[in-house]
Amino acid sequence: MIKIGIPRGMNYFDFFPLWDEFFTQLGAEVITSKKTNKDILNMGVLNSIDDACLPVKIFHGHVYSIKDDVDYLFIPRIISIQKSEYECPKILGLPAMVKNTVPDLPEIIDIEINLRKRKMYLLKEVYRAGSKVTNNYIKIRNAYLKSQEKYNEYKILLNNGLNPNNIIEKNSNKKGEYKNKHLNVLLIGHHYNLYDDYINMNVFTKLNNMDVNIITPNMVKEKEIEFYISKLSKRMFWTSGKKIVGASMYMINERNIDGIIFVSSFGCGLDSILIDMVERESKIKNIPFNLITLDEHSGEAGINTRIEAFIDMIKWRSNDEDYFSTYG
Ligand code: SF4
Repeated sequence: MIKIGIPRGMNYFDFFPLWDEFFTQLGAEVITSKKTNKDILNMGVLNSIDDACLPVKIFHGHVYSIKDDVDYLFIPRIISIQKSEYECPKILGLPAMVKNTVPDLPEIIDIEINLRKRKMYLLKEVYRAGSKVTNNYIKIRNAYLKSQEKYNEYKILLNNGLNPNNIIEKNSNKKGEYKNKHLNVLLIGHHYNLYDDYINMNVFTKLNNMDVNIITPNMVKEKEIEFYISKLSKRMFWTSGKKIVGASMYMINERNIDGIIFVSSFGCGLDSILIDMVERESKIKNIPFNLITLDEHSGEAGINTRIEAFIDMIKWRSNDEDYFSTYG
């Protein structure tokens, strides 16, 4: 059986169920790397360029960790997943970066996902990926249709508040994970920062243990994001940036949130703009904002202190209306 490797990093949290279903339907065995750990981080740092951001380095570590166990690595070149929008340049260049830095790789399936081009182009690329497993065009087309169904189900579960890790590992019920807790905190950032527990040092678990309801951009509907983005003087042309800013603006203006935590990676070009936009909007509505910037040297004790101090400050604020923090 042909083995297809899908590294557990970058767009894994957005698209793994789609590509897993696609290759499985074709009869391949899909192999994913382990969850991020110290070895994967170290391998990533050693096998990537110095000025890559943390999630890109970690992705290289995931590639390194499974490259010898698979026949092909699936690393699509994701250029545009929504009309008139782009992904970050580092995502566009991901397969090229990997090819040029990680030694002794198997063949990489680097199909181009570019919705700025005609639909036929995407179908040709999907066929190119499927042809590594079978030459049966009908089978590839059917597998792709099935995988899209799976992907749509996945998106609904994300919108209901489920964590991608729990959906993928099938250890979650379908009712969502939103509980009636004391505080509502919007946790924002790129998905590979939010849902990789090693990168963010278990921020979900930490907040869950502090009586906090965690709200993520995945829980905001597309039309609400589009509505707020359309109010900007200039259209946001990065898809992930649009989601972060649009979801934040919606939550700040229409929902009762007690605070915002932005999880970012050191050196992220997009975030240097997105952070500023979200923080400005939060100041207008007097909602506390906390930025956690991560790199390969971040220590967990420092992150714990930041989060605990932030949540304590919000609790004092809500318990005593006369209390004004030094924030803002
Ligand atoms: S958006 Fe930022 S964190 Fe993500 S790949 Fe680009 S530079 Fe890295």
